[in-house]
Amino acid sequence: MLLDVRDLHVEFRTRDGIAKAVNGVTYSVDAGETLAVLGESGSGKSVTAQAVMGILDMPPGRITGGEVLFQGRDLLKLKEEERRKVRGAEMAMIFQDALSALNPVLTVGDQLGEMFVVHRGMSKKDARARAVELMDRVRIPGAKERVRQYPHQFSGGMRQRIMIAMALALEPALIIADEPTTALDVTVQAQVMELLAELRRELNMGLILITHDLGVVADVADRIAVMYAGRIVESSPVHDIYKAPAHPYTRGLLDSIPRLDQKGQELYAIKGLPPSLLNIPPGCAFHPRCPMARDVCRTDVPPLYEVSEERGSACHFWRECLHG
Ligand code: SF4
Ligand code: MG
Repeated sequence: MLLDVRDLHVEFRTRDGIAKAVNGVTYSVDAGETLAVLGESGSGKSVTAQAVMGILDMPPGRITGGEVLFQGRDLLKLKEEERRKVRGAEMAMIFQDALSALNPVLTVGDQLGEMFVVHRGMSKKDARARAVELMDRVRIPGAKERVRQYPHQFSGGMRQRIMIAMALALEPALIIADEPTTALDVTVQAQVMELLAELRRELNMGLILITHDLGVVADVADRIAVMYAGRIVESSPVHDIYKAPAHPYTRGLLDSIPRLDQKGQELYAIKGLPPSLLNIPPGCAFHPRCPMARDVCRTDVPPLYEVSEERGSACHFWRECLHG
């Protein structure tokens, strides 16, 4: 296994108390595999990824338990200096907002080249040549000329390609993409996602794709982990989840995807809002919003029940959900 996250807990100290952002997350990704981590904002999906990357803002953030095994080593036990070597070279992250992640006063060639100068000790000239190669690889037309341009001279989609190029530069074993296409319009979204999937295949990397949009994952992900209030509530091969979700929250998410054959009909929306992480409801955290909730849901936290060898659901009534 490339990455094995086990029972991870993360808290944030805030003025109003302790926010329990991640409450026992377990997931894994193999080489060549894409795991989509799905959830509304505040579900803990980004915080989990930041803990894996070692870029959590701490304090006020604190990892209070668990393990992050990467190629067999527990990253949480490494010193910051060793951690820094892993970051970029062995795992890299792609963020939603390329414009703020890129340096506005450096040409994209200098930024891409810097990876090779710093990590590989290359000369500036060789690094520049590698930058052009990378831009070709992410299919930016006219790379030879455009390598001299600044981030603001590129469109949103092209900038996101530059971010991907940057992440790929050192051929990491794992890429984490946090809402990589959210800022783009729909057609460009599909192109960028397709590119990412293709490069993942070519380089046999593991990919964690963080998204709030179940609509974008069907074609690219192998497995899905659905998060709610800092926990994984359903984990499944992607096709099974579309056929029959085993958790009412997943069902709600699926029912709220716009479908072409239902044009004009009002979209289903899960009622209510996700809970505050300062005050997570007892029992099943989803119970205040769940159409299937019963008494036991208000008191007993559902474990991740085994639905099949490859599937888990944290719902006391997963059987009903699956067959309903
Ligand atoms: Fe709904 Fe109860 Fe299942 Fe939670 S455990 S998702 S409240 S039915
Ligand atoms: Mg986020």
